[in-house]
Amino acid sequence: MLEQLHAVFGFRTFRGVQQQVVDRVLRGESTLAVMPTGAGKSLTYQLPATMVGGTCVVISPLIALMHDQLRSAEANGIRAATLTSADENRAETVARLRAGELDLLYVAPERASQPHFRELLGQCRIALFAIDEAHCVSEWGHDFRPDYRLLRPLMDLFPGVPRLALTATADAHTRSDILNQLGIPEEGMIVAGFDRPNIRYTIRPREGLTQQLRRLLAANPGPGIVYAPTRAATERLAEALSDGRREVRAYHAGLPPEVRAANQSAFVASEDMVICATVAFGMGIDKPDVRFVAHAGLPKSIEAYYQETGRAGRDGDPATAHLFWGADDFARARMRVQEVEEVRQQGERTRLSALGALVETAGCRRAILLRHFGETPPETCGNCDNCLEPPKSVDATVVAQKYLSA
Ligand code: ADP
Ligand code: MG
Repeated sequence: MLEQLHAVFGFRTFRGVQQQVVDRVLRGESTLAVMPTGAGKSLTYQLPATMVGGTCVVISPLIALMHDQLRSAEANGIRAATLTSADENRAETVARLRAGELDLLYVAPERASQPHFRELLGQCRIALFAIDEAHCVSEWGHDFRPDYRLLRPLMDLFPGVPRLALTATADAHTRSDILNQLGIPEEGMIVAGFDRPNIRYTIRPREGLTQQLRRLLAANPGPGIVYAPTRAATERLAEALSDGRREVRAYHAGLPPEVRAANQSAFVASEDMVICATVAFGMGIDKPDVRFVAHAGLPKSIEAYYQETGRAGRDGDPATAHLFWGADDFARARMRVQEVEEVRQQGERTRLSALGALVETAGCRRAILLRHFGETPPETCGNCDNCLEPPKSVDATVVAQKYLSA
C-alpha cells in the first residue's frame, strides 16, 4: 500500500487516519471519515480506486469542485472523468466507464435519480461509492442539499459496494444523521486529525487587557492576529498597541473596502505585523506563518475558537493561541441566549457551558478541544498552559461557575 501511495501521489507516509480509512475501504467496509479541511480526505478514496478492479463513483456537490478534483487526479496519472451537464465529452466518458477504463467517476448528486444513469452503473463494475461533503445529506448540517437524499436509493441497488462518506463537520447530531441517511454502521465512523500539536493554548482571565497584549506582542515577534469583539474595539486596540516600531492595523467590515484590502494584503506580506480584527478576518486568507492568535474576549463557541486559533502555525512551526476572558463575557453571552428564539436556547446554553468548561479547566485544554470533536486525546498534551504549569488557584473556576449557573 505504501508503495502504491508513493507511486501514485509521491508521498512516503499516510497522514493521521488516512491509512485506517483506506484499510476499511479495501476490506469493503462502509465508513464515515470525519477529518478537518486540508487533512487529506480525497486520498482515502483515490488511492483505493487505483488498487481495486472497477470504478469508484464520487459524489460531489459542485461542478467547479469536481473539475478541480479531476485535474489533480489526472495530474497524478489516475484515470478519472466527470459526468456533468457541462461536459461535452459525455459519450466518450460513458464508453470509458463501460470498458472499465476509469478509476474515478465524478458526478453530481442529482444524477443519482436518473434511470439511465442507474442502468449505466448496473452495466459496469462499481468498486466504491465515495460521498464527498457528506454533511449535505443532513438537514442539521450547515449546507443541506435535498439531492443528497437520492443517493441512498441508488446505492441500495448495489448492496455489495462499500460506501465512504467524507466530511469535516464537527457536530455530533449531523454525524449520526449522515450514518443513518447513507446506511453506514455506527462502528464505521472514524474521527481524527483535529489536533494541531504545534499550537500552544493559553487561557487567562482578563486583567488589564492592553498590558497583557503588550506583553504578548513583546514575546511574539512574528505576525499575529488579535480578535476583538467589536469594530470599535479593534480600532481601540490597534491604536493602543502601536508603539512606532511594529505595524499594528485594524480590520473590520465597517472600514472602506480599499482600506480593508490594503490592510489585509499588508498583513499577508508582512513578517511581523499585528492585525486587530473582528472574526470577519481570516476566512480565505492563506498565510501559513501566523505565529499567534489572541482573543481579547470569549469566542462564540468551541468550534469558532478552534477555527480562529487554527489560523496560527499552518506551516507546522511552533505557534501560540491566547484567550483573555472575563466574567462579563459570560454575563453578556447569557443575555444574548435569552434573546434568541426559544427552540434555539438550549443549544446556545450547551455551547456556552462547553466554553465555560474550556476556560475554567485545570486540566489539559487540548483534551477538551479534541473530545469536543469526538477524538480520544492523550491524558496530557504537554503543550498548553495547564500541562506546562498546572494551576494552583481555582479562583477563575468559581467566577465562571457563578456566571454560568446564575
Ligand atoms: P480535504 O479534502 O480533507 O480538505 P485534500 O484531500 O484536498 O483535503 O488534501 C489536502 C492536501 O493535502 C492536498 O494538497 C494533498 O495533496 C495533501 N495530502 C494528502 N495526503 C497527504 C499525505 N499523506 N502526505 C502529504 N500530503 C498529503
Ligand atoms: Mg475535500
